[in-house]
Amino acid sequence: MKEIRDPKDLAVNGAPPAFIEPLHVGRPNIGDREGFLQRVEAILDNQWLTNNGPMVQEFERRIAGQLGVKHCIAMCNGTIALEIAIRALGLEGEVIVPSWTFVATAHALYWQGITPIFADIDPATHNLDPAAVRRMITPRTSGIIGVHLWGRAAPVDELQDIAEEHGLSLMFDAAHAFGSSYKGRNIGSFGACEVFSFHATKAFNTMEGGAVTTDDDELAEAMRLMRNFGFKGYDNVIHPGTNGKMIEVCAAMGLANLDGFDAVVDTNIRNHAAYKAALINIPGVRVLDYDPAERNSHHYIVAEVGPDCAASRDAIIAALHAENVLARKYFWPGCHGMQPYRDLFPHAGLMLPETDRVASEVVILPNGFSADESAIATIANVIKTLAG
Ligand SMILES: *Cc1c(COP(=O)(O)O)cnc(C)c1O
Repeated sequence: MKEIRDPKDLAVNGAPPAFIEPLHVGRPNIGDREGFLQRVEAILDNQWLTNNGPMVQEFERRIAGQLGVKHCIAMCNGTIALEIAIRALGLEGEVIVPSWTFVATAHALYWQGITPIFADIDPATHNLDPAAVRRMITPRTSGIIGVHLWGRAAPVDELQDIAEEHGLSLMFDAAHAFGSSYKGRNIGSFGACEVFSFHATKAFNTMEGGAVTTDDDELAEAMRLMRNFGFKGYDNVIHPGTNGKMIEVCAAMGLANLDGFDAVVDTNIRNHAAYKAALINIPGVRVLDYDPAERNSHHYIVAEVGPDCAASRDAIIAALHAENVLARKYFWPGCHGMQPYRDLFPHAGLMLPETDRVASEVVILPNGFSADESAIATIANVIKTLAG
């Protein structure tokens, strides 16, 4: 690793970057490699590649057991899992979601003819602001999808109260929240159901994959049918459905990564503390905290670059990219700034001032096994050089 250069050199074309190998946000965590390969051998020996095979069944049992929830229905990815959960719950008309989330939360509704209605967030938590949710309820509203952003729980109790008051369904997009808790209880059994993504970029991955977890037997049964074309046994289709099945190789990856998950979290917790310490004295730069009273994978290093910072968020990202640190804006400019929502709701921003502000200030920094203490010190130096 190279010393960081003088600031005036940062923009010099052709100067070698501080990192020879790019340092990515969201580089996959690969747990127990040998364990994975052994399971793949077993899959090939069995010749059972998909259709609720033994790996998927074991994976579902382990996830449900670990989260303390009755049902885990594994799926091919988090987006299909969201779509199936939304359909199984019978959502229709309008559904309230944050705009400050990955676009799949909104697309999973729009894709099946439901209008996502964007509510603003609490800037301190980056999660839905219950008062903003109340403002967006209309006679067409059928439900609320809370997102546990950065794995920090949405305001579960407040959203539950609103849902009950107005007769709405409540479910959660828990794509970031594997291994998180709310009031000490594992995320996975709040609302009617919760949806996880196990995409390669998440803290815990099955390469591609997802799951819905729920304590509701009937809902679980409906989602199992929908995941497999509505088949009940052979030659007997009793429900409309799609193909949302997880394959055996993905479940094998999941089982191997479950074994390595604690090590990932320990590394992330150390990295998060190192980032906090390294960036603490830069005016206008703030690294989001994780509540020490709750569990969280600490997968996301979320820095906010405020107006009192000497450098803009975008200038900091450009400087990091020049050094081969591929920091990301993630959900910028918010779902309401993306198509088709931008054309559908051209004035949505008027109701989303906090979303707009947060979206303009956030930068996500690299984490996981590839970001060690010296890498973090170098990254902090790049930011300090511009903004310190
Ligand atoms: C990753 C993600 C999804 C989509 O999951 P995929 O498995 O990639 O389909 C949905 N919502 C949020 C908040 C996500 O971060």
